[in-house]
Amino acid sequence: MVEDLAREHQRELAEAGTLVDLEELTCEIGDEVARQLCQHELFGRAERALKEEFADCPDCGERSMACVPEPTLLEGLRGELAYNQPRYYCPRCRRAFFPDGRFTGTSDQEHRYAERDAEDGLGGKQPW
Ligand SMILES: [Zn+2]
Repeated sequence: MVEDLAREHQRELAEAGTLVDLEELTCEIGDEVARQLCQHELFGRAERALKEEFADCPDCGERSMACVPEPTLLEGLRGELAYNQPRYYCPRCRRAFFPDGRFTGTSDQEHRYAERDAEDGLGGKQPW
């Protein structure tokens, strides 16, 4: 993997004049690798959850709800993480909601929803 990265970033690495420049560049590359690896795993978990996860409506307990993928952006430690979050729609309550995120590991509320924060300012808790 390191050899591949060195080949891919050959020119920038050669242009880094000082050790500080080199470390700053390699930290940026490492952050991007970490972001992509995290996004890859999160995306896979969400895709599996879309197939397997069931949720009851928190208001009426309805079980036969449609599950639709909701394109989601999270602000991760190393940049934005894009994935398709399972979202349910209860026809009885005419309400959409997100399950607790235990399958994707996103239930800890430590990550902000980049897009939904920008749109509604309510931290992604607003059903629509
Ligand atoms: Zn309901």
